[in-house]
Amino acid sequence: MTNNWDVHVIEFARSKQQRMAGLIHGAPPDEVHDLPFSFVLARDGASTVLVDSGFMREGSGEAMSRKFGIPYWISPLRMLAAMDVAPENVTDIVLSHAHFDHMGSIGEFPKAHLHIQKRELLSWHEAIALPKQFGFLTEIINPDDLRRAFDAAVEHRLNLVDGDVDDLLPGLHVRLGNGHTMGQQFIILDTARGSLVVSGDCVYSRRNLCGYNHDGVYVPLTNAIGSAWDQLKTIDRINKAIKGDLDRLIILHDAERWKAMPVVKEIEGFCIVKVS
Ligand SMILES: [Zn+2]
Repeated sequence: MTNNWDVHVIEFARSKQQRMAGLIHGAPPDEVHDLPFSFVLARDGASTVLVDSGFMREGSGEAMSRKFGIPYWISPLRMLAAMDVAPENVTDIVLSHAHFDHMGSIGEFPKAHLHIQKRELLSWHEAIALPKQFGFLTEIINPDDLRRAFDAAVEHRLNLVDGDVDDLLPGLHVRLGNGHTMGQQFIILDTARGSLVVSGDCVYSRRNLCGYNHDGVYVPLTNAIGSAWDQLKTIDRINKAIKGDLDRLIILHDAERWKAMPVVKEIEGFCIVKVS
């Protein structure tokens, strides 16, 4: 292992009293959390990489955040500025999937190369063209984000990743992890403390891997358009990638807000934690 990515999780929004049963199969009906929304900043030498981008709360992004009940928000750009990162200096954005809360800021980074699974992006073009009876499939998709991805394609800044790729960037590996969406990917980063996995939305909670009551029986999501079958296979791939060590897993919607990791900055209640 030769690469040592410097990795931070950046929180930029929070929902209010979100019902976990709507996200995770079998969650108690009265379990609610103010769930964080986050993305990852990974830096190594000349590379300044985001895993997902957060969303902007303006125009259609504002409408999406209201639709999904996300009252607390700070600009992802302001959080990045606190880490001395200007938008034009972001070299790459690796997108776990195309839901608006993960991809809704891509238009803010004019020079970044976008990396998303081919199946993820193209499946949304297919789904969004279906008759409106199929609207459930695309309810977390902001069509403007797909337009911005197309703009990036015209500018030759869009890489449609085809399945698992080692060293997409040196020491950054992607793995197809469909289930939550049709072409989700999770990301493995080589760091000073070994491999870390950014799970995208393949996982909302440690319980997806360790099971209820720590019985080790994988738990699927309720918020998914793919099958439970695919989800559990993806969860198993993640479990193998972290070698069963949950401290190697970065959950973007972690209800415990990455409590084991040191907070390096806090702005208006939103935290930046250092992972490696
Ligand atoms: Zn999602």
